[in-house]
Amino acid sequence: MKVHEEADGVFRIPVHNPFGVYPTNVYLLVGDRMGLFDVGPGYRRTWEDLSGALSQLAMRPEDVEVVILSHGHADHDGLAHHFSWASILIHQADLLKISDYNGHLDRYEEAVRAVMPTWGVSSEVSETIPGFFTWLRAAGDPAPWAETIADGADLQGLGGSWQVLALPGHTEGLIGLYRARDRLLISSDQLLETTVPNPGFYLVGTTYAGNGMADYERSLHRLAQMSVGRVLPGHGPAFADCSGRVAHFLAQYEERLDQAEAALQGPSTVHQVAERLFPGCDAGNPYHVFITHMEAVGRLSVLVERGRALRLEGLSGGPDRYSRSGR
Ligand SMILES: [Zn+2]
Ligand SMILES: [Zn+2]
Repeated sequence: MKVHEEADGVFRIPVHNPFGVYPTNVYLLVGDRMGLFDVGPGYRRTWEDLSGALSQLAMRPEDVEVVILSHGHADHDGLAHHFSWASILIHQADLLKISDYNGHLDRYEEAVRAVMPTWGVSSEVSETIPGFFTWLRAAGDPAPWAETIADGADLQGLGGSWQVLALPGHTEGLIGLYRARDRLLISSDQLLETTVPNPGFYLVGTTYAGNGMADYERSLHRLAQMSVGRVLPGHGPAFADCSGRVAHFLAQYEERLDQAEAALQGPSTVHQVAERLFPGCDAGNPYHVFITHMEAVGRLSVLVERGRALRLEGLSGGPDRYSRSGR
C-alpha cells in the first residue's frame, strides 16, 4: 500500500477493508511520540498493509504509543487489540464497542432482531441478519484496556496540538481531530468527499435507542462553523473545500427528507418506505437490508421530529406506520 504524506507529520495509510468500496484510512501522527488514528479491520491483510507501510517509513508497530479510534465500527477499530502495548482512546459513547467487542455485538444483534418487526421487515428477511453479525464478529476482537477521550481534549506530542471533536451521527461517539496550526481536519466517516455515512443505530443496553440521522446534521453544522483547509477522511483521498462539501451535504439532507416524505403514499411501514427509496436493494444481503432500513427510519424520525410526519405505533405486535402530517 502506498503511504501518502498529507501534512507535516501526518501520513495517510489506506488499508485493506472488505466492508466498503474504499480501503480504510489509517492516519499516522508523528511528533515526540507516534500515534495512529484508526487502525482498520482485524484481518491479516489489513495488518500486513499497516505494518508494511510503517516499515516503509522505517518505523515498527511497537513504536506506536497511542491508538485513537474515531468510532466503534469494525472497519476502523477491528485491529486495535493487536496494539497491546499502546494506550487506546475512544469516545465514552463508543467505548463498549471496543472494550467489550463481542458482548456489544450480542446486544446489538438482539436489538436489531427486536426492532425489525416494528419496521415491518418479514421474518424471512430478518433471519438473514445473523450472517451480518458473523461477519462483524470475525473482523475484530476486544481491547478491554481502552480508555475514553472527550470532546475538546487537546492531544499533545503527536505533531502539534490536536483538538478532539465529537461528531455524533454515524455512531453515538464518533470523533474527529483538528489541528489549528494548518487547519487540518481528520473527519473519519462524518465527512467523506462524495458519499454520506449511514446513520447510527443507537443502543442502550439491548434496546434500540434511536437513529443518528438528526445528530449527523448537527455535526455537519458544527463543521460548517470551522475554518478547515484540508480534510482527511475515513475513506478515500484527502480533499479541500470542506465548507463546499458540508453545504452540499446539508442541502442533500433536506432532499433526503423530501424523498422520504414523498415515499409516504398513505400510512406506510419503514420497510415499505425503504423499498420505495431503494428499489434496487438486495433482500438477500443482510447488510443492504440493514442500511437501507436504517436510512429510511432515520429520515422518517426526522420528519416526525419536524412535524412533517406522524408515527402510529403498531398494535398487538404489528409494525409502526408513518403518514404525512398533512401540514
Ligand atoms: Zn463507520
Ligand atoms: Zn468507515
